[in-house]
Amino acid sequence: MIHKLLSILFPRRCHVCGRILVAQEDLLCVGCSLELPHNYSIEMAHNPIEELFMGRIPVVSAGALLTFRAETISQHIVHRIKYSGDLRLAKMMGTMIGHQLARSNRFDDCDMLLPVPLHKKKQRKRGYNQSEELCKGIATVFNRPIDTTSVQRTRNTSSQTHHSRIERVENMANVFAVIQPDALTGRHVLVVDDVVTTGATIESCCKAILQVPGTTVSIVTLASASKA
Ligand SMILES: [Zn+2]
Repeated sequence: MIHKLLSILFPRRCHVCGRILVAQEDLLCVGCSLELPHNYSIEMAHNPIEELFMGRIPVVSAGALLTFRAETISQHIVHRIKYSGDLRLAKMMGTMIGHQLARSNRFDDCDMLLPVPLHKKKQRKRGYNQSEELCKGIATVFNRPIDTTSVQRTRNTSSQTHHSRIERVENMANVFAVIQPDALTGRHVLVVDDVVTTGATIESCCKAILQVPGTTVSIVTLASASKA
């Protein structure tokens, strides 16, 4: 009775389009769920995300849950997770990534999840790291420890939106530092980020990790804007 009353007074709404949700729907309405641009690269070898990093860093496996397109549902979701503090949506998307990781056998060897760190100042301002929130969802299905302490972002880089690919790679050089190498030695690290575009940020993070003896890296992101 109370539930019914509450749902009339405060109806649950779709986190993307705002439509009132029915009982079976959670965070997203059926329409928005069906619109998600899944690309299944997580389960597919030699996909565009792996091609993007080819010749730059040695990556065991890489994939992204969604294809990122401007002014579509994928952008809406990324923005809500990154700028609006929609942590429930982040966890839900992470869970979807986790299901694909678990279904694919390509990531079975990964020992740990490592969200790409934000600079301390940026994380304090935002209150959370969206990639870490994705990891929390991933770990509910694809059970691995989340490492948020071994790697640090040592430089607070400016927004990279208007930089060319080469400028971005140069701008990102030595942005990350491993501060607890022992935790990574000999491990296969699954690096997690929200969006991959040129791959400059992830490349820089992986390069820092790969300096630790015996480490290997794989990559998974919520969305890929790469045209590789
Ligand atoms: Zn919707």
